[in-house]
Amino acid sequence: MRSRGYIVILGSIMSGLGKGIVTASICKLLQAKGLKVVPLKFDGYLNVDCGTMNPFRHGEVFVLDDGSEVDMDFGTYERFLNISLNKFSSITGGKIFQHLIKKEREGRFLGRDVQIVPHLTDELKAWIRRLGDETDADVVVIEVGGTVGDIENSYFIEAIRQLSYEEKHFVAVQLTHVPSLSKGEPKTKPTQHANRLIQSMGIRPDIIVCREDEPLTQESIEKISLFANVSPKHVFDDPTLSTVYALPKVLNDQGICKVICEKLGIEDGHADISNWESLVERIINPKNGEVDIAIVGKYTTTKDAYVSVKEAIVHAAAQFDVRPNIWFVESTLIEEGGPDIMKDYDGIIVPGGFGNRGIEGKIEAIRYARENNIPFLGLCLGMQLMVVEYARNVLGWKDAHSTEFSSDTKHPVIDLLPEQKSVSEKGGTMRLGGHTSLLVEGTLAHKYYNALEVDERHRHRYEVNPEYVKDFEEHNLIISGRSKDNGVVEFCEWPNGLGIGTQAHPEFKSRLEKPSPLFLFLVEKAIEARKRNSRKTSMANTHRTIGSV
Ligand code: GLN
Repeated sequence: MRSRGYIVILGSIMSGLGKGIVTASICKLLQAKGLKVVPLKFDGYLNVDCGTMNPFRHGEVFVLDDGSEVDMDFGTYERFLNISLNKFSSITGGKIFQHLIKKEREGRFLGRDVQIVPHLTDELKAWIRRLGDETDADVVVIEVGGTVGDIENSYFIEAIRQLSYEEKHFVAVQLTHVPSLSKGEPKTKPTQHANRLIQSMGIRPDIIVCREDEPLTQESIEKISLFANVSPKHVFDDPTLSTVYALPKVLNDQGICKVICEKLGIEDGHADISNWESLVERIINPKNGEVDIAIVGKYTTTKDAYVSVKEAIVHAAAQFDVRPNIWFVESTLIEEGGPDIMKDYDGIIVPGGFGNRGIEGKIEAIRYARENNIPFLGLCLGMQLMVVEYARNVLGWKDAHSTEFSSDTKHPVIDLLPEQKSVSEKGGTMRLGGHTSLLVEGTLAHKYYNALEVDERHRHRYEVNPEYVKDFEEHNLIISGRSKDNGVVEFCEWPNGLGIGTQAHPEFKSRLEKPSPLFLFLVEKAIEARKRNSRKTSMANTHRTIGSV
């Protein structure tokens, strides 16, 4: 039997170079060759998972089917590979120490002092190999979070060094940055220094992927090759692209697969990314015009806070061959200036969220969408506020609210899930991960999912208060789906056919090659709305929104 291959991606010089996208692109190319690929990410922080982190600081918290709250790079992996991962692909500092210390308490190391080397590094290597075994992977692709030289990932890199010695088929990739001080003056020195640092840790990168300010010159490629002990053919250009989905082809065209396959001892078969490429072409040069979609949120200045929502719009728009202009609207601006600033959007999304700030602005945006027939999609908190808005303005209960924001409202239309009432710990305690919903025949949700039983991922503590469901139905709010196991309201719809809310986060399961049905709904309705309003110009001159993506 052929032995398994391991690829490790190390970041150098600085963070934010798009290591997750490089990792996902390499995985994609190998997958397109018919190989079974599984990604694994190590994050050095001592949190057990991402669930308690603030999107302002860390970007979006991504959720897997099994309920793991993980780094947003997992969204990139799943969107590229069109596969669902589980918790074993994610190692954090907190998780591995917790695991090791639990073993120590169980007496599994009796008589020994427990050390970083070999005990912690053994655990890490065993974890990596187990993931390969359990997924029956041909290749395990390991992304090391952070940058080489960080204290947080030093013991992980030591484990990787050991792995590189023990495994026959191992490839190390250094991601680096080649800045240009002025045009035509690319600087390779930081890359040389960083390469030396990696080599001092006992790993010799086989491939150098260079983010740059301008295309790499032959001279800089040769310089990097000389100092890093690799052939110039192993130095790759990673330019800034108009869409991240274009990177697999850019790397493929430069021959990265040949180098990887040679090292892994596998045949460099044809990577069939034709379906992928036709979708990328639609993203870059859409044929059917454009739509303006607003995301009304409170982390709108942090570009990574709603990345899955943004990407899900991109996926759906590619299916319709339209350009989505995506606008972040800070909901407090609606509180200050009124909802009229929403008037020119073709579609509005209120995404998930926590905490009081900006809530009334989001409710006003929803009212404006409903009253003016603007297509609307409410995600988790967005659906809860859709229900609050309906209670206030259609049922006439002016004080209706969620008990998350008003504990003494007389109409608590959104309330804590019963099982949440006794929960006090914060980490991993929400209603998390995949849950099955039963949809009602003939509803919009049924139409777009084209199924009566659907699985979506969740992350919430509150729900539509079951005591009010009858009142809502009597006032024509359509309850179009409920949880199979406990009856939680999972989907609701406006009677005008232009608004859907879901308690789930369908954005987490949207992939370029398999867009989320609810985002297809929103984009399709937005295209129709734009035609109805016969608006031809984009919102690009609006000054009240924060900006496009
Ligand atoms: N804060 C709400 C809840 O906990 C919504 C959560 C979310 O949007 N992810 O139920």
